[in-house]
Amino acid sequence: MRAVRLDAGGLPELADLPEPTGPGVLVRVRACGLCGSDVEKLGRAAPGTVLGHEVAGELENGDRVTVLHRVPCGTCERCVARHESTCAEFRELRIAPGGFAERVRATHCVPLPETLDEHDGVWVEPLACVLRAAEAVPRGRVLVVGCGAIGQLWVQVLRRRGDDVVAVDPRPERVATAHVLGASTDHDPVVSAVVTAAGGINDALRRLEPGGSLLVFSAPEGDVATSLDAVYRKELTVVGSRSATPAYFRAALDLLPSLVLPEVTTLPLERFLEGVDLYRRGDALKVVFTP
Ligand SMILES: [Zn+2]
Ligand SMILES: [Zn+2]
Repeated sequence: MRAVRLDAGGLPELADLPEPTGPGVLVRVRACGLCGSDVEKLGRAAPGTVLGHEVAGELENGDRVTVLHRVPCGTCERCVARHESTCAEFRELRIAPGGFAERVRATHCVPLPETLDEHDGVWVEPLACVLRAAEAVPRGRVLVVGCGAIGQLWVQVLRRRGDDVVAVDPRPERVATAHVLGASTDHDPVVSAVVTAAGGINDALRRLEPGGSLLVFSAPEGDVATSLDAVYRKELTVVGSRSATPAYFRAALDLLPSLVLPEVTTLPLERFLEGVDLYRRGDALKVVFTP
């Protein structure tokens, strides 16, 4: 079957791979979203890796599903402390080889309702991550840094729970979309900030009220120069949240049909590099690949 795997330099190439084997069931991939974390792994992940974890697929009987690529044990100390993504079991991959392929084997599938558009299953995982992280964001006036696809989900999730949302992004057209979704733009202090993009962390720290809280939802691998003075003087709280758990997948499925989904650029797997380029340049909000 066709798949995009990483070559010796960690760069993506279209390859012919054997049919997937291993535990779980066979899922025919209909679409797989390109996540910012996939792009971060290019040039870094091990040769042979097949990335992709935002899958809209179909079982052999035609039932539509999305898959969980990682699952916490639910009972260890880390899980009980609600840091499930740091659970030792969470490191294990539950899909083989990865979503950027014609077919995968998956141990944990979540059924998708027929009412969902064919490719919309790709949003369940990202939305589940937002819903889990939102619990670590104190309510009130919340700043969303970055109005890409993930920022747009954040704006809607926060508005729905009653927060005042302020959105910033260097691209005016993205801020305009955030406004349509219910965000505003001003320079007043905020009680919480959500960082969904590489830049902007220091602006967020400066805007937080004393005792405020910053959620790191995305981060580059390298070090980022950070104004610790603001954290110290205003006694701010900085928390991170990564990935999701089965319960949040279910919550995301319930919420998904009522959201305005970000604009998608759909490309075949053959045009993987082009899709990565569009995403990196900011010319595509969200890229989805179809095998
Ligand atoms: Zn993702
Ligand atoms: Zn655990």
